[in-house]
Amino acid sequence: MAQRRTRILSEMTWPEVREAIERGAGVFLPVGSTEQHGYHLPLATDVILPTELALAVADELDFLVAPPVAYGYRSRPLSGGGQGFVGTISLQARTLMSLVEDVLSELIRQGFERIAVVNWHFENQNFVYEAACLALERHRGSSARILVAEHPFAELSEATMKTLFPEGFPGWDYEHASIMETSLMLHLRPELVLFDRAVDDASKRHPWYDVLPVPEDFVPASGTLWKATQASEEKGRITWEEIVAQFREAVVTELAGTGSPEAVRHER
Ligand SMILES: [Zn+2]
Repeated sequence: MAQRRTRILSEMTWPEVREAIERGAGVFLPVGSTEQHGYHLPLATDVILPTELALAVADELDFLVAPPVAYGYRSRPLSGGGQGFVGTISLQARTLMSLVEDVLSELIRQGFERIAVVNWHFENQNFVYEAACLALERHRGSSARILVAEHPFAELSEATMKTLFPEGFPGWDYEHASIMETSLMLHLRPELVLFDRAVDDASKRHPWYDVLPVPEDFVPASGTLWKATQASEEKGRITWEEIVAQFREAVVTELAGTGSPEAVRHER
């Protein structure tokens, strides 16, 4: 696929987008949050990572990248530190679902048939899936297909997990502003990481259930839920290469371009 001027939909002109749709280009919709990520990572971490993931494969697979959804569902104390931090700006679930449904519906209406939602913020799961279902229900009869990538780092290889978490994997709910996210940001956007301020932290209690109103001892003071100081650029590079490869494979398998063997198989 020839390198295009830009893959960012909002930086293109409307005739360029029309030409992309006519040749069968797909579109990625990154979905994230504006949420505290400890003392050392930017609020946009969950927007930057899925956008970078979409851009990493956009040229090769002929996809555009739609403007990301920069706000997400309510930060939960045990997976994101909760709503008590300055800078965390969240949506109600119904707002998020409506927003994502409307954007997907617009993309389908304009003729995109290969669509992938690329979510990074843990708490958005299910709501983005629901939005994709509702958008397709609005366009019965269209041949659009939507890949819903709710958790693009869920199935890393054992080798990468050992590299990332040599002392043991605590669970993805802890992985907020911690080893993986910090490592990925050190690899992709080092200028945005204040690594000398990174801390290892944990809430005093992390039970299997949740409680409302939020108990104070469910929330670590820093907003980092695990061990950020064990992050490194090297860990980030290894993890990122695997995440990109897995995402590329998912898109190729489910949303192959016209004329490819996968597309022909789907048409039968
Ligand atoms: Zn995050």
